[in-house]
Amino acid sequence: MATSGDVCRLCGGATEPQFHRLVLGRHQVQYARCRSCGSLQTEPPFWLAEAYGSPLATGDTGAVQRCLSTRAAVWLILALLGMRSCRLVDFGGGTGLLCRMLRDAGIDAWTSDRYGRGDFAQGFRVDPDALAPGRFDVVTAFEVFEHLPDPARDLARLFALRPRLLIASTLPYTPDRGSDWWYLSPEEGQHVFFYSPDGLARIARAQGYHPLSVGAWHLFLAEPAGPVRRALLRLALRGRVLRLARLLMEILPADRHVAADHRVRPPVPDSGDRPDQSRGAGDPPCR
Ligand SMILES: [Zn+2]
Repeated sequence: MATSGDVCRLCGGATEPQFHRLVLGRHQVQYARCRSCGSLQTEPPFWLAEAYGSPLATGDTGAVQRCLSTRAAVWLILALLGMRSCRLVDFGGGTGLLCRMLRDAGIDAWTSDRYGRGDFAQGFRVDPDALAPGRFDVVTAFEVFEHLPDPARDLARLFALRPRLLIASTLPYTPDRGSDWWYLSPEEGQHVFFYSPDGLARIARAQGYHPLSVGAWHLFLAEPAGPVRRALLRLALRGRVLRLARLLMEILPADRHVAADHRVRPPVPDSGDRPDQSRGAGDPPCR
């Protein structure tokens, strides 16, 4: 009889064991592959409280460099889709560094994280329980998907916000990945689900979105993009173009955005801060 560990937590398909890894240096954990969608998952993760003792995994030395690339990717994507005036929430925003950097580039970004304190984005934090459908046109979730213990349930909640665009990053899983794949990160124990390209496409279909994946970048569009925009997005998210954009962003003027945010008195942290709906009232309409 199948146990919960034998069933794919994304699509409900049957799984087959692949290998074991030592998680957090003390738990022998089985990784299994879904026969239906091809994704890889750990057994049901019972070690997460232990794994999240520190919100930023101790081995995540690439956090700042990733933030610089991610800022360039978001900026390019929004520019190509004509959505730079849209309000964005960075789900699982952690320290709030990306949110602050996007705001410096003139994007109306907010951060939301149940565990991260959002120190860099005080005044622009949103309680995850206060997120409501239609409140944000763009939702971003970078290096979040692979942390979700129950992706079917957790992603349904994220898509229930009904953004026009959801941008995510996670390295896709393919069967040639073995037990030595670095992205498994068993030492930290926070990565518990690894999506196959088919798994990601199924999510989009199930939620009524149009997918576009380039490497580790995954866009879920409420409205399909035309062939020219799709081609431009594919080009923009390739390594060389992204590196160039990352450099160019350094010369974008940030002073007036920094000063504008400084003039706005932020709400007292942890007082139930909510997006100030009047703040963007004069902005050009996003829709
Ligand atoms: Zn599956």
